[in-house]
Amino acid sequence: MKKYLIVGAGFSGAVVAEQLSKTDCEILVIDERAHIGGNCYTEREKDTGVMIHKYGPHIFNTDNKEVWEYIQQFCEMMPYTNRVKAEYKGNIYSLPVNLHTINQFFGKTLNPKEGKEFIENLGDKSIVEPKNFEEQALKFLGNDLYNAFFYGYTKKQWGCEPTELPASILKRLPVRFNYNDNYYASTYQGIPKDGYTAIFEKMLDRPNIEIQLNTKFNKDFDTSEYDQIYYTGPIDAFFDYKYGRLSYRTVFFERGEVEGDYQGNAVINYADPEVPFTRVHEHKHFTPWEQHEKTVYFKEYSKETEEQDVPYYPKRLKDDMVILEQYQEEVKTLNNYVFLGRLATYRYMDMHHVIGEALGVIRDAGDNK
Ligand code: UDP
Repeated sequence: MKKYLIVGAGFSGAVVAEQLSKTDCEILVIDERAHIGGNCYTEREKDTGVMIHKYGPHIFNTDNKEVWEYIQQFCEMMPYTNRVKAEYKGNIYSLPVNLHTINQFFGKTLNPKEGKEFIENLGDKSIVEPKNFEEQALKFLGNDLYNAFFYGYTKKQWGCEPTELPASILKRLPVRFNYNDNYYASTYQGIPKDGYTAIFEKMLDRPNIEIQLNTKFNKDFDTSEYDQIYYTGPIDAFFDYKYGRLSYRTVFFERGEVEGDYQGNAVINYADPEVPFTRVHEHKHFTPWEQHEKTVYFKEYSKETEEQDVPYYPKRLKDDMVILEQYQEEVKTLNNYVFLGRLATYRYMDMHHVIGEALGVIRDAGDNK
């Protein structure tokens, strides 16, 4: 009988465990936190009754039918469309940038064709192949919209000039020449009715899966009895940071509570650089099927990740990529390890990417048979 060790009980680890558990094997899942679910962990607040996404809101959205069907084995997905607003210089605008945003911002009443032509004219035509976040924005949106909605917000969130960031970060957001204000362009979107923690509980509730929480993986951990180790923690931590630390942004939250409704929407972004937080989440709006008298909101702040902080967003700056390559070379020399997920591969991944890749890893290895 095979023995597997899985380091990390976030989506990567949980999917691998769930898939492997169908075979004749024994699985140990360890996590350094006191709970399963990684950054997707949710819990219901005693005081307000509101379901809280402890590490920031997670809205499930994907184009991948396999992933969408897979996740629904473990939860009831409620229909949810993320509609984000942005505050900038005393006005509220619609996001992602759409015809409403354009008309409101420029004081116009353009139709879709006019709006498209108008923005194309504002775009910087000298940029052929955008090399970074800023060039991507200037090429497709022009200077005014970029400065209003992206420059300040991005500097606050990432702590660096947008010229240092890859264009791919901006490509996450659509630009539309109609009034569709769905933040995501994905085919499928929803929020699990009972939160994310319940999903992880269902995935990991198997006779051949043992879970050990508050258990850090380090050099002293005896791995000799395992046929295969799936590692989903930070790749630099695995090697004791011997080539240096990879840079991440982390976020932290300031909680507030009032009666009724605080901001009338789940998410409002703050584009002004003078406002110290990036966005405010009011969690009860993520569960419109529930009723709560009180409401709780969180102001989200970003900062550089230090030793004691939770790493969130991999920055992938030039220096990081040099360090990453050294670690990746060393991973190739390990024979019974698989590194997967956001932290172990140091990539900006959404939940659906993580799940899709984890399913692929097990399928490719043929380990689920
Ligand atoms: N962004 C921005 N202004 C906004 C929203 C997003 O400049 O109002 C930029 C920012 O750099 C962010 C990126 O677009 O990192 C991707 O945004 P998304 O909402 O996908 O980020 P996430 O929800 O993953 O933090």
